[in-house]
Amino acid sequence: MKDECTLREKAREAIGNGKLPTRKPDRILGGLGSEEICAVCGELLMPTRMEFEIEFNRHRPTPGLDTYHLHPPCFAAWEFESHNLLARRAISSSDQRDQHPLPPMASAPSEPD
Ligand SMILES: [Zn+2]
Repeated sequence: MKDECTLREKAREAIGNGKLPTRKPDRILGGLGSEEICAVCGELLMPTRMEFEIEFNRHRPTPGLDTYHLHPPCFAAWEFESHNLLARRAISSSDQRDQHPLPPMASAPSEPD
């Protein structure tokens, strides 16, 4: 059994390498393990245990559905990390708006007099 910290690390990794998105799923289903591989920890979802299935509507390149299967603790870790990332992104983009009215590339560093 993996501890929560390891799972969050794995969730961050999965987000970082594009295995899992950071947005809110379009649908969340719960049920018994489908014998798929967990998208966070890479372990089998046993049919005797619970799993979460999260679905994202995909618009590109072809419309469809991206489905991921996760253990409940892995789902919690992913949810935690994706909220974290989104919050951090929101903070940093509002910082940029406040401090630099121009995009970073166009703004020259200001020299003190
Ligand atoms: Zn897992």
